[in-house]
Amino acid sequence: MAKEIRTVEFVVLPVTKAKASKMFQTAGACRYVWNHFREKNLADYQAFKNGKGEQPKTSYFSLGVEFTKLRRKTEWMRELPANPVKYTLKYFADALREAMEGKKGFPKPKSRKRTVPSFTIPSSCGVRIRKTNKKYSSLLIPLVGWVTLARGGGNSQEEGEPKQVVLRHDGHRWRAIVFYEVEVEERMDAGEVLGVDMNARQVATSDGDFYYLPDLEKKEKRRKWYQRKMARQVKGSSRRKDTKRKLAKVSRKIANTRKDWIHQTTKEISEKCGTVVVEDLKVKNMMASAKGTIENPGKNVRQKAGLNRAMLDTAFGKIRKNLEYKCGRVIEVNPAYTSQTCSECGHTDKENRKTQARFLCVSCGFASNADTNAAINIRRLGMAHLHGEGSGISTVPMNREIDTRLSYG
Ligand SMILES: [Zn+2]
Repeated sequence: MAKEIRTVEFVVLPVTKAKASKMFQTAGACRYVWNHFREKNLADYQAFKNGKGEQPKTSYFSLGVEFTKLRRKTEWMRELPANPVKYTLKYFADALREAMEGKKGFPKPKSRKRTVPSFTIPSSCGVRIRKTNKKYSSLLIPLVGWVTLARGGGNSQEEGEPKQVVLRHDGHRWRAIVFYEVEVEERMDAGEVLGVDMNARQVATSDGDFYYLPDLEKKEKRRKWYQRKMARQVKGSSRRKDTKRKLAKVSRKIANTRKDWIHQTTKEISEKCGTVVVEDLKVKNMMASAKGTIENPGKNVRQKAGLNRAMLDTAFGKIRKNLEYKCGRVIEVNPAYTSQTCSECGHTDKENRKTQARFLCVSCGFASNADTNAAINIRRLGMAHLHGEGSGISTVPMNREIDTRLSYG
C-alpha cells in the first residue's frame, strides 16, 4: 500500500459574527506577515541579484525564528492562531526560493482588496474534523472554534487522515479544502505512457479517449451581458451593486465548472498511466503569438482572441500542474509539427490537416481524429526522450508533497 494526498472541498456554513471576524483577522494577519517578510527580504534579494551580499535565507525554519520574534512584539497578533499565521511563511519561503532560482519574479505584495482572504491550518496544529452526519462535518479552527462543513456529494475521503486545511473566502463564503492522506493500492500501470493533446474545448489522449469541457456558452454570454450592464450603471448605485453580485455569482459558477472538469479529467488520465507527455506550454505560447494560433497558423491574433488565449493558457497550466501531481511523471516536448505529422508514417505536411477535426495523411492515407493523431505524436516524442534520444526536454520528477497551490485555482 502507498500513501497519497487527496483533496476534498467543503463549503463552510455561515458562522457567528465573532467567528467570522476572527477568520478574516487571521487571513489579514497572514497578509500582514507576508508583506512584512517581503519588505524585509527585498533589499537582501536585490543586493544578492546584483552580486553584492549573501544569499537571503529561504528556509521555512529560519523565517519561522524571525516570525516568533515578530509575534512576541506585535500585540494584536497574539490573539490570533499562531500556527496558521506562521504557515504563511511556508508559502513565502517557497516563493522566495523560486525567485532566487530565477523561476519567478520576487513575490508580489498581498493587497487587502485584491488578494483572496485565506489561511492554512497546517498539520503541526493537528487537524480535527468530526463527522456530524452524512452531509455535515465540523472542523476545529484554532482560536476560532468549531465550524460546520457541508458538501453536496458527501465526503469521498472520510477514511483518510486529514493532514492540512486551506480556508479561503471566495467573495461569497468561506470554503475549506481538506488534504487527506489516504492509503491506495500500488499502481499497476506505472509504466504506461500517455500523450496528451490540450485544446480549448477538449483534451485528447493517445489511446483515443476524449475529455470534453462542459458547454459554458450560455453562462459566458450571461457574464458578458452583466459586464456590459454594469458598465452602463451609475457607480455606487444599488442597482449596480446588485448587478455586480449577479456577475460574481455567474463568474464563480464558470470557474467552478472548469475547476471540477480539470480535476475529473486529470484524475481519469492519471488512473490510466504513470507518465504523461504534454506539449511544452512556453514553446506553444511562443508559436501561438508568432503565427496566430497553433490550430490556425497565419491568422492574426486579434486583441480579443489574445485575451481568450490568456485564459486558455491558465487552464492548460492547471491541467499540467494537476497531471504532475496525480501522475508519477510529466514529460514536456516541443509541440512543433505535432498536429501536421502523420502518426502512422511520419509524413509532415500542412495538407494533412484539411479541417480542424480530421487528419488525413496525403502520403499514406491514414485517417484519424486530428487531436488523437497529435496526442500519439506527442507520446512518441516523449518515448524518444525516455529512451535517451531527446535533448533539451525537461522532465518533472515525482512530487507527492502536499501542494496547496493546487487548490488556489
Ligand atoms: Zn501517413
